[in-house]
Amino acid sequence: MAVVQNVLEPATVRAHFPALDQRVHGHPLIYLDSAATAQRPNAVLDAVRDFYERDNANVHRGLYELSRRATESFEAAREVVARFVGAAEPAELVWTRGTTEAINLVALTWGWANLREGDEIVVTMLEHHSNLVPWQLVAQRTGAKLRRVDIDDEGRLRLDQLDELLGERTRLVAVGHVSNALGTINPVREIVERAKAVGAKVLVDGAQGAPHHKVDVQALGCDFYALSGHKMGAPMGIGALWARRELLEEMPPWQGGGEMIETVELEHSTWAAVPHKFEAGTPNVAGAVGMAAAAEYIESLGYDAIAAHERALVRYGLERLSAVEGLRLFGPEDPEERTAVFSFALEGVHPHDVATILDAEGIAVRAGHHCTQPLMRRLGVPATTRASCWVYNTTDELDRLAEGLEAARRIFA
Ligand code: PMP
Repeated sequence: MAVVQNVLEPATVRAHFPALDQRVHGHPLIYLDSAATAQRPNAVLDAVRDFYERDNANVHRGLYELSRRATESFEAAREVVARFVGAAEPAELVWTRGTTEAINLVALTWGWANLREGDEIVVTMLEHHSNLVPWQLVAQRTGAKLRRVDIDDEGRLRLDQLDELLGERTRLVAVGHVSNALGTINPVREIVERAKAVGAKVLVDGAQGAPHHKVDVQALGCDFYALSGHKMGAPMGIGALWARRELLEEMPPWQGGGEMIETVELEHSTWAAVPHKFEAGTPNVAGAVGMAAAAEYIESLGYDAIAAHERALVRYGLERLSAVEGLRLFGPEDPEERTAVFSFALEGVHPHDVATILDAEGIAVRAGHHCTQPLMRRLGVPATTRASCWVYNTTDELDRLAEGLEAARRIFA
């Protein structure tokens, strides 16, 4: 039983993830970098292996058994992931390589078709480069302008400023569901309501949302939701864009090639129906199968149990890390407003040195700007060290982290 009375049973959950069972530099691995990429459960590894062992063939148009099975698995995976995010129908789910590609798809299709000189795109100080640079590129080419919502000192979005920025020129609000750098959970539903009041579309970067929360795109009311498989236990190189059908219908295709066409002449072509119009070339079928297995695995643990586990880690981590001398924690103080991502600076020790010292103890954390350079500038630091948790992490591991940090301080003191 992985879940007992709606609480994750750590030993059982950990046993689902074979990569966790190893020693690094002579110590048991403590993996605290799930915001960069999560480890994979057996359910996903088995699904991918089964696909390659039994059903491997190219999808669509194949008239033989293996191709039929591969196509069925691919489209069944779409159904699962569409349901996982609350889509009205599977056709609203476009497979992509991940969040980055999903956002670029929207920028290069919806953005190019709809943005004009003087239009405004509102982003936030918390955005990952993936939800900023594609908008810069489209703004440079269309004459649209980027506006940005700042954060307060705890790394929460300044909704008062959002209200000032929103207006008749706003065409799009692009906002992350959860900040990868600080763990801040953004009030997306509220942001959508305010954006809709001025007729703007809303794109949600859900890379850090889907692994932690039940995503319900209809309840959120957004127009686009982007997610990455590898942050939720699926293989790398697969992800998805959800968008409302009428938007997908209106959007022009972006990449041309096989799969995305209906008829092809020398000078022009007509397009396949959505979502295939956006899926040129051979897709990552095993990745899609793996992402569906990851979605089902998360659902089997249950969101209530995941949330309870995560809240316990947040509370414990905030308290334990605050007790480390010289450690400055970034992000919201209220555990309800954040996920179990701990971004910090350790006085007198460079973040890269912190990560290297921890690595010697078998503790994997990330040091750097976390693809959020504007945010780092806003915080007044070149980089932070970040420890990020998922369903398999334990409070014991956070103790080991804190002890490692105390040792690092002693080395540099
Ligand atoms: N947005 C956020 C908030 C992220 O954390 C990440 C991954 N670090 C991305 C976007 C990009 O995701 P991917 O690299 O899977 O495309």
